[in-house]
This record gives sequence, structure tokens and C-alpha cells, in this order.
Amino acid sequence: ACLENDISGTDNKGFKGHDMLAPFTAGWQSTDVDPLIIEKSEGSHVYDMQGRKYLDTLAGLWCTALGGNEPRLVEAATKQLNTLPFYHSFWNRTTKPSLDLAKELLDMFTAKKMAKAFFTNSGSEANDTQVKLVWYYNNALGRPNKKKFIARAKAYHGSTLISASLTGLPALHQNFDLPAPFVLHTDCPHYWRYHLPGETEEEFSTRLAKNLEDRILKEGPETIAAFIAEPVMGAGGVIPPPATYFDKIQAVVKKYDILFIADEVICAFGRLGTMFGSDMYNIKPDLVSLAKALSSAYMPIGAVLVSPEVSDVIHSQSNKLGSFSHGFTYSGHPVACAVALEAIKIYKERNMVERVNRISPKFQEGLKAFSDSPIIGEIRGIGLILATEFANNKSPNDPFPPEWGVGAYFGAQCQKNGMLVRVAGDTIMMSPPFVVTPEELDELISIYGKALRETE
Ligand code: PLP
Repeated sequence: ACLENDISGTDNKGFKGHDMLAPFTAGWQSTDVDPLIIEKSEGSHVYDMQGRKYLDTLAGLWCTALGGNEPRLVEAATKQLNTLPFYHSFWNRTTKPSLDLAKELLDMFTAKKMAKAFFTNSGSEANDTQVKLVWYYNNALGRPNKKKFIARAKAYHGSTLISASLTGLPALHQNFDLPAPFVLHTDCPHYWRYHLPGETEEEFSTRLAKNLEDRILKEGPETIAAFIAEPVMGAGGVIPPPATYFDKIQAVVKKYDILFIADEVICAFGRLGTMFGSDMYNIKPDLVSLAKALSSAYMPIGAVLVSPEVSDVIHSQSNKLGSFSHGFTYSGHPVACAVALEAIKIYKERNMVERVNRISPKFQEGLKAFSDSPIIGEIRGIGLILATEFANNKSPNDPFPPEWGVGAYFGAQCQKNGMLVRVAGDTIMMSPPFVVTPEELDELISIYGKALRETE
């Protein structure tokens, strides 16, 4: 139930028991469920059907980085729709926006040289694509047994069959016969929750890297194809890595010739205060997944970046193996690519990384000032992403009884006071748009404080 958000709207007459099978929504089959219907957006705010205004602290779903009404993105989409609303990118036919976007992304990603970009419609499709790329790569290298993936408990990589398997959240597995047998999960790197008494962050990271190595040796390194990680875990509870974690994990992965996939779907384009999460943590990935802020969510689009080491094998072997027969009708959709190109242009022109660094201390420090609350266990985050975890006695080992619904109550108080947050059990998550203003951050901190007092 950790992904269910039970906060409903009110007064949406006529939309009770609506016809939609809504994603990740509790009780969709009930005639009593009354959804919050969002009708309009403006900057960092959204409005419901009754005209009530809410500060949207999650930027849609961690994605509307440029806020709700950026005219340049609308113009880019309109221009492309008027010129060429669609053409595909199969069989060596393609469109200019998709070629331009591929080049732009390869130029932008500097943590490690990337050679090719593959386009999808979503983050889930990007991660499914990663699995097929990695399998194709190992088949091309004559290593048909090197096929298993290692992901992490509490990771979120999507909800298609394969990306949900990579995801490390029970709600995405139970009732769906997942995860698929080729996916293993290793430790979640949440220091506050899982460190041993007296263990430093560095020691915790060393222990997790050792656990990973032991698992690889137990399974047989010749069977492990890739390791996948979000630089900062998002939907699993906003979990930044502990000190030295990625250095140690990368050393293990490299030692056993295992590919590293950085799932940058939330972290990319400035959210952490660097252009990519890989820049923040010195990650040198072989493959990268992108989506969300790629187009500031104005059009659905995802991408996979492929290092030369992987793409060279695929290219050189495709005569033997046959083409990389994978793709979607809308891979490289010209309108989505045109919007993504414009979003990236805006990130660069407005120096969005610098802006996030300038405003995020107010966000982080303003909210972390509430850490002393007796009902808060931990407030954690970096840049413009943050989570509050409620806990009894401030202890990770003493959660509030789920039936108390502490997180849901806090979320409902926020909503009542004009602010939308992401509730997952007793964890509250926020990732405001990059364009959030200092005044809006004052509003955010003030409503948070009010909702907290009402919850205490
Ligand atoms: N990867 C990460 C890190 C995500 O946060 C998400 C979505 O939240 C996905 C993948 C899946 O993306 P989508 O919902 O676009 O399929």
C-alpha cells in the first residue's frame, strides 16, 4: 500500500465512482471515492475544478521542472505540430527533432562519454529498453548466461513488467507474480534506517558494498549482467546515498564486469544541483535512463543513453545477430523531441542548475528546521528533493501504527491548507519545480509548519 495516496478531493459532483481505472489508487472500484480533479496550472501552482489553488510541491510527479505554464514549450509543440506532427524513426527513417535531441543529450552528459541515444515514451520503457540492450550486448559477446540484474530494495524503476521487477517495492510485486526471476535485490542504502549501532556512513557503505560483492560471488559473476540505481532514490522515500556509497559500489561492479545503469529519471537536468545525478556522486555509468524533466513533462518522452563500449558491440555484432529489434511507434516522436529540445534550451539559458543551487538551501534548511518535532524521525534531501519520515520516538525502529494514518493525515492537512505533497505511508515527499520562487518556498514552509502542528 506504500504507493497509495488516499487523499481525495471534495465536491466533484458527478465524478464519484468515475470510469477510470486509476493508477496506484486505492479503492478505484468504490463508488465512494471522490477524486481531486486538477484543471489548470500556473507556475508552481495548480487549480482544482472548484478553482481552489494548491502549491504543487511534487511538480506533477517529479517532472514539471519548468512549472505549469511555460509558453516557450507550448510554442515549440505548436510549431512542430504545424510542421510535422508525426513521423517514425524505424528502418533508417527519422525526423530532425529526434536527431537533434540525441546529439544534444550526448553532448550534455559528461560524467562519462555516451555514444547513442534511444528514445522511449516513459521512464518505464527506458528501463525495459536497458534490459534488452544489456541482454543483446551479452548475447553479442557470446555470454548467454550473463543475464541477471541487481537492483536495490526500495528502488523505483517503473511499473511495466520488467521495470516493476527492477523496482524494489513490494506493492509493485505482490499480486503480479513479480519480480521476474532474473532480477535480484540488494540493500537499500538508507543510513538512518539500516545502520548498525555506532556504524559511520562510510562503514555502512563499506558493509553494503561487501554484501553486494558476496551476493555476486554467490550467484556467480558470470551470471550477473548489470546493476541499476537511482543516484538519489525517489519514490522509495527520497534516499540520498550515504558517504562513499557509489565509489564503493562502482568498484565492486567494475571488478566483475557488470554494467552500471544510472536511472536518472528524477535526478537529471538539475534537481540535485548538478545537471545529472551522476555528476553529483561521481557515477560513471555505462547506460543512463532519462524521462520526466527531459520535456518538463509537457510531452511524454524518455531516453536511454548508451556508452560507446556497449553500442560498439551492438553495432559490430548486429550483422551476426540481426538488428536490435526493439522500439516503439512513438520512439523519437517529433513533437516530444521538439519540446524536450526547448526545455533543455531553457535549462541552459536560465542557468537552471545554478538557480537550484541558489534556492535549494532555503528549501532544505527551512524544512529541516522542523526536525525536532516529536513525530518526525528524519528529514532528508538534497537540492530540490526532500522527504519527511514520521516515526514514534524519532526512531526508525518504532513506526507509528499504520492504522493511525499519520502521513495521510499530514498530507490531508497540507491539501486543506492549499498544498499538494506526495504521501507514501508515513513518508512525505516533495520535489518542487526548478522555477519555484523564494516567496513560494516561504508559502511551502509555512503550510508545512501549520500541517505539522495540526498533526502533532
Ligand atoms: N525511474 C524512476 C527513477 C522513476 O522515478 C520513475 C517514475 O517515477 C520511473 C523510472 C518510471 O517512469 P514512468 O512513470 O515515466 O514510466
